[in-house]
Amino acid sequence: MRVGILGGGQLARMMAAAGIELGMEFVVLDPSPDACAGRFAELVTAAWQDATGAERLLACDRLTCDFENVPAEVLDALSASLPVRPGPAAFAAAQDRLVEKRLFRELGIPVPDFFAIESRPDLLAALEQIGLPAVLKTRRMGYDGKGQAVLRSSEDLEPAWQALGGQPLILEAWVPFEHECAITAVRSSGGEIRHYPLSWTVHQDGILRLALAPAPVDEAVAAQAREYVDRLLERLDYVGCLTLELFAGPFGLMANEFAPRVHNSAHWTIEGSVTSQFENHLRAVCDLPLGATDMLGHALMFNWIGAMPDPGLLLSVPGLAWHDYGKQARPGRKLGHATLLAAHPAGLNEAVRAMRPLLDTQTASLLTGAITPEG
Ligand code: AMP
Repeated sequence: MRVGILGGGQLARMMAAAGIELGMEFVVLDPSPDACAGRFAELVTAAWQDATGAERLLACDRLTCDFENVPAEVLDALSASLPVRPGPAAFAAAQDRLVEKRLFRELGIPVPDFFAIESRPDLLAALEQIGLPAVLKTRRMGYDGKGQAVLRSSEDLEPAWQALGGQPLILEAWVPFEHECAITAVRSSGGEIRHYPLSWTVHQDGILRLALAPAPVDEAVAAQAREYVDRLLERLDYVGCLTLELFAGPFGLMANEFAPRVHNSAHWTIEGSVTSQFENHLRAVCDLPLGATDMLGHALMFNWIGAMPDPGLLLSVPGLAWHDYGKQARPGRKLGHATLLAAHPAGLNEAVRAMRPLLDTQTASLLTGAITPEG
């Protein structure tokens, strides 16, 4: 089976690493000549709309994406020739925060209050309704905290408007969450759904820093998250992995956004689950039976952002799994991740304590905060 992937970043790279073991071959299309999936797959360097690139993709048996902002119309055109999974409808919804929030609302999945913003008067009128704090976001092309501004006082309005005005925006009420969490589920072409356990996620500057799984929440909360993600999967007649990101607090769960692809918050599944999200995504895309999603232990995954630490030091930590994406270092760029796996939460605590002296202070305090949330 030859699988084409639009987008050649670390998600495509980890998909290819999993799929090669299933006997699959990969072609990745990416506008950048140094896309890191190129080490595991045939890399076609071309713009999304480029006909030459499309020709190479059309020689594949299935298409999927590692990037949610591949233009939905490109996926639409390709889907006339071969199965594109998940399909263009999921991308059209995930690419526009307004369409996405309206879909959540229609499916009975709670969301913060929101308003479409086209002009300054729209913004002022919406703020009258929502109050401060609030979050102003671009409707399109926002990811990793890009294209958004938190409005805490009236003084924040003008700088936010200067930075973001002139494009379609959405204003959302600020959610006073206690934790963020994410649930990844996979749906086969025959409609079978399997869930990974809910993860706790921690973001800094809008970028995911770590994920702890399973999230230490009541089963009722986890069941609610599974029900919400099922509604999305069914409505979109979805095939593959999907991640729903949620806010958790005294109000229950509220949806923030969904990603129509494999997701950073489920990277722990490589070591922590019987079948990783990457393998299960490909199984679904290629009409193979889904694999078990049972956990093999308690997992803590954390990202290396901006710089890779010295593996010579950290690989001495027992049970630490190392993933270096082979990318050029740049501030704010995800370059790799590591996962700790332990039989009990106490085992994770021990491993984090052992690692602390080997970590930069910011990562050390993030990890400590994750395993001892009350402290
Ligand atoms: P997003 O790009 O929408 O995923 O936002 C990135 C991060 O900003 C989220 O993971 C939250 O930490 C924070 N955030 C986004 N929207 C809200 C909101 N309405 N209320 C509180 N925090 C938010």
